[in-house]
Amino acid sequence: MCGVLTGDLGVAADWTAKTNHVPGMELRAPYTLFAEGSRGHIGKELIDRFKLDEGRDPQHYALGIKELWQVSPERHRPGLVIHGSGWPLTDAQGGFFMYHGDNQQLAVGLIVDLNYRNPWLSPFDEFQRLKHHPLLARYLYDGKRLAFGARALTKGGLNSLPRMTMPGAMLLGCNAGTLNGGKIKGIHTAMKSGMLAADTLFNSLTDPQINHQATQAHFNRAFKASWLRKELEQSKSFIPALHKLGPWLGGAFNYLHHNWLGGKLPFALHDRTPDHVRLEPADRHSKIPYARPDGVVSFDRLSSVYLANTSHHEDQPCHLRLADPQIPLQSNLPLYQEPAQRYCPAGVYEIVTQAGEPHFQINAANCVHCKACDIKDPAQNIRWTPPEGGSGPNYPNM
Ligand code: SF4
Repeated sequence: MCGVLTGDLGVAADWTAKTNHVPGMELRAPYTLFAEGSRGHIGKELIDRFKLDEGRDPQHYALGIKELWQVSPERHRPGLVIHGSGWPLTDAQGGFFMYHGDNQQLAVGLIVDLNYRNPWLSPFDEFQRLKHHPLLARYLYDGKRLAFGARALTKGGLNSLPRMTMPGAMLLGCNAGTLNGGKIKGIHTAMKSGMLAADTLFNSLTDPQINHQATQAHFNRAFKASWLRKELEQSKSFIPALHKLGPWLGGAFNYLHHNWLGGKLPFALHDRTPDHVRLEPADRHSKIPYARPDGVVSFDRLSSVYLANTSHHEDQPCHLRLADPQIPLQSNLPLYQEPAQRYCPAGVYEIVTQAGEPHFQINAANCVHCKACDIKDPAQNIRWTPPEGGSGPNYPNM
């Protein structure tokens, strides 16, 4: 790796140069650190090209959907934290949260593991259903939604963590997968991976004798000796236990493993099936009857996208690329009833009828950049790429 090439600006939807066209810039650097967050589009290519995941379990992901609310003073409990799992996710695993913050605001959200089997499942609609639970709804009545957002999480843990170094570059934080699934926390671990990289590169850049190989070896030693590796080691079976044993048995295993055995066991559990492979044909499952949103506690996709402050320049190439444009209609529709219509929380993918024929429509301007389509498409046919600079959701308080 010798740096990055930024994208061209001012390219029209038909790929021709507009009058404001500015070619991309080549930024060269002795080392480039990639910290794009979960399912980074460059990170994905680096993992593939440098075979960083060789010998590891496949990575696992979840989709998090969150809203920020302004609630009435009598319903606000500053400092209240609610965590839970189970309902409404009967066909998937995951959990929910509600955090009461300052200024009569609270955040409510649902995390849905993306290894679910039922293609009728819609994480967005599960979240709308969740908010009707009396435990949460009683805080939301008379309230007002302020913001909406969605984002994938990388949660495979140590078993799925790729090598984080390659000649001239490092892959850090959730781009690699340093989140601790057992603690449901990833900021402290992502920061630590960045600090280890900074220490390593300070040595390399101040000593011309240190080459790329020595730099990689230094980072790997520092990572092995760090509390980050120790923490991930202790929880490396947490996610595989839930995936393989289910929430009850897996939950019991995790409780014993963490609280009684201190995360020390002479063996580790693994989940070696990628999330997209788990999806099963639609005719093996029943359709999930989601209620219509009531406009008080639950809402539709489009009004939610509006609250994500999403803005994309209309005249630009579609940033959601299909490797094979035939797959949505030729295989995803007959087999899975095209699940992109449901796993995308922003209503980007639609099957519409034109002249009596089904047509796969991509409403790219709605995209909130969650990356679920890049992860969950059963044929791995959708590639998320960055739209023109600055386009996308704007999450000021999320
Ligand atoms: S198009 Fe893909 S990345 Fe964009 S919101 Fe939908 S699922 Fe997320």
